[in-house]
Amino acid sequence: KALANPGIRTLSPYQAGKPIEEVERELGIKNIVKLASNENPLGLSAKVKGALQDALSGLARYPDANGFYLKTKLAEKFGVHTNQITLGNGSNDVLELLARTFVNETHEVIFAQHAFVVYPLVTQAIGAKGVAVPAKNYGHDLPAMLAAITPKTRMIFIANPNNPTGTFLTKEELAEFIAQVPQNVLVVLDEAYYEYVSEAERAPSVEWVAQYPNLIVSRTFSKAYGLAGLRAGYAITHPDIADLMNRVRQPFNMNSLSLRAAEVVLDDEEYLAESVRVNQEGMAQLVRFCEQSGLNYIPSHGNFLTIEVGSEAAEIYQQLLRAGVIVRPVAGYQLPHHLRVSIGLPAENQAFIDAMAKLLK
Ligand code: PMP
Repeated sequence: KALANPGIRTLSPYQAGKPIEEVERELGIKNIVKLASNENPLGLSAKVKGALQDALSGLARYPDANGFYLKTKLAEKFGVHTNQITLGNGSNDVLELLARTFVNETHEVIFAQHAFVVYPLVTQAIGAKGVAVPAKNYGHDLPAMLAAITPKTRMIFIANPNNPTGTFLTKEELAEFIAQVPQNVLVVLDEAYYEYVSEAERAPSVEWVAQYPNLIVSRTFSKAYGLAGLRAGYAITHPDIADLMNRVRQPFNMNSLSLRAAEVVLDDEEYLAESVRVNQEGMAQLVRFCEQSGLNYIPSHGNFLTIEVGSEAAEIYQQLLRAGVIVRPVAGYQLPHHLRVSIGLPAENQAFIDAMAKLLK
């Protein structure tokens, strides 16, 4: 252990949502409902299923190392050049690539107090100093984040919407922030939940990339596009940033199936619209329950709702598990009194509501 890099020796591993199979085996119960990893409850798009079946015959060959077709599609969709795109094995891979490409142990990296855990993780793995800026109403305090910039700052991570709080920054707030960040500090705008945000509220982040060469937009196919298990994410940046990231990137970081699935689902507008619709309805269902039960929740722009359940949160999590509902404890995000519940299908949301209502009695 003494041989590991100093940052890695003190690193806590990423805590993923508990898998259904594990709960089934540990507790000996069936029909588990998992609302723990912000996955798409619709399952794979039917078009993706068909395309994956067709792609099986090509799997003895290596994937296209440069993801030509997927990059071409993304470039057309967003009005950018293919040399502005970097593909990732999920957007976590993009986030790690960014840290490895631009950050070293002399640098500081800024993120918000309740920010997505991969930001401190990749920062610490490199041996750089993470600077967690106290939250404002559970979300990003942008003026405080600006004030935290020092000559050592190399990167700032902003998740919009943020996970696990669901908090959201308006395009006006973001525009004002980005304009004030010095050009030698990279701003990573992580828009993993972008597709759930209404078109009127979305920031023109890809357009900003043309204006701010230090801005990096990160997106994923794991949420509204329903490809979490396939691992597909991407960054849109200035071509110089993409060039550098692509030098560091493993050549086959997206496999043939994830490339094909992402290409197909990008055109599946019906699936995307259905994902958003199911999410809105499920969100309303959970919010209604919280309001009727007097539970505080953090208003969310994502595909999850973080609910304040009190100092017994760890015990409530265990009791929900025993009732067959997996949610996500967020104590590791300095939210020890909250639980994060992903939006599922109506019956899955109801299973959570029924189990939680029993506990509240
Ligand atoms: N960013 C945020 C804010 C997230 O919540 C997640 C998913 N938990 C990711 C990035 C990474 O998702 P993926 O690697 O599946 O693209």
